Amino acid sequence: MPATLLDGKSLAKQLRAELAEEVIEFIQNNSVVPCLAAVLVGDDPASEVYVRNKRKACDEVGIESQLHRMPADTPQEELLKLVARLNKDEAVHGILVQSPLPKQIDPARVVLAVTPAKDVDAFHPENVGRLVQGRPRFLPCTPHGVQQLLMRNGIKIAGRHVVVVGRSDIVGKPLAIMLAQKGPGGDATVTICHSRSHDLGAITRLADILVVAIGRAKFITAEMVRPGAAVIDVGINRTPEGLVGDVDFAAVREVAGAITPVPGGVGPLTIAMLLRNTLVAAEALEN
Ligand code: NDP
Repeated sequence: MPATLLDGKSLAKQLRAELAEEVIEFIQNNSVVPCLAAVLVGDDPASEVYVRNKRKACDEVGIESQLHRMPADTPQEELLKLVARLNKDEAVHGILVQSPLPKQIDPARVVLAVTPAKDVDAFHPENVGRLVQGRPRFLPCTPHGVQQLLMRNGIKIAGRHVVVVGRSDIVGKPLAIMLAQKGPGGDATVTICHSRSHDLGAITRLADILVVAIGRAKFITAEMVRPGAAVIDVGINRTPEGLVGDVDFAAVREVAGAITPVPGGVGPLTIAMLLRNTLVAAEALEN
C-alpha cells in the first residue's frame, strides 16, 4: 500500500489561519502591527521567488512586510549599515537577510549583525545557543516546520529512532537538536549522517523517521528505507523535470508508511514558521 501523503501545503494553510487569529489579538492588545523586514541583495531569481512568497504569506496573516533591495555589488559595510538601521527601527520586529549573498559579503558577519531579538531565522549564535540549552527564543523555521508536520500528523517522535541526513546549520543540525530535546516534539533517539558517513543505507534503514536535507536529487532510494518508516524530504532540487526532493518519491512511497511530497511538503511550512517567529518577536519587543 502506498505511503500516506504528509501534506505540508494544507497544514501551512491551517497554521497561517491560526496565526492570523493571533495577529488580530496582538494588534488589538498592542495597537501595533507586527512587521517583517526582508533584505534582498542582488537579483537571484530563486531568492526573488522566496521573498515574494514570504511577503504574500505576511499579507495573508496580517503581518506587515518591508522589502529592502540592494544591488548585487553592494559593499558589505552598506549591508551592515542597513541591518543596523533595521535593528534600531522600532516599527520592525523581524529581520530576514535572504541568502545566498553575493561573494563580497561574508554571511557569518551578517548573521552576527542582526540583533538576536529580531533574528527570526534563528541563525544568530545567541539564538542557536539558547536552542541547544533548551530555552529557545525562536525555533529555526525549517526544523520547526518538520517538527510540526510530524506532530500534527500524529507521528510519534518520543522514544523513536530518527535519522537525519545532512548536518547544515540551517536544517540538519538544529533539527537533530530539537528532536532529541526533552519534552513535547522531542525525546527521540537521533542519529546524524553526512557525506562522510559509511554505508549510509545501513543507517537510514534503522530509522523510524528519516529526514533528508542534502540537496541531491532523488538520492534516497527505496532500498535505503525501512518499510513503514515516515520519510520527510527537505531537499529542493531544480532539475530538467522540475522541482524534486532528495528522495526518489515514486519508489520510496511504495515502502514508506508516510512521506512528504516535493513541492508541497516542508517548503510551505518553513514560511509559516517564519511568520510565527515574527509574531513571537513582536510580542517580546512590545511587552
Ligand atoms: P547544505 O548544502 O548546507 O548541507 C548539505 C548537507 O548534506 C551537508 O551536511 C552534507 O554533508 C550532506 N550531504 C551532501 N551529500 C551527501 C551525501 N551524498 N550523503 C550524505 N550526506 C550528504 O544544505 P542545506 O541543509 O542548506 O539544504 C539541504 C537541502 O534542503 C537543499 O536541497 C535545500 O535547497 C533544501 N532546503 C529546503 C528548505 C525548505 O524550506 N524546504 C529550507 C532549507 C533548505 P557534509 O557536511 O559532510 O558536507
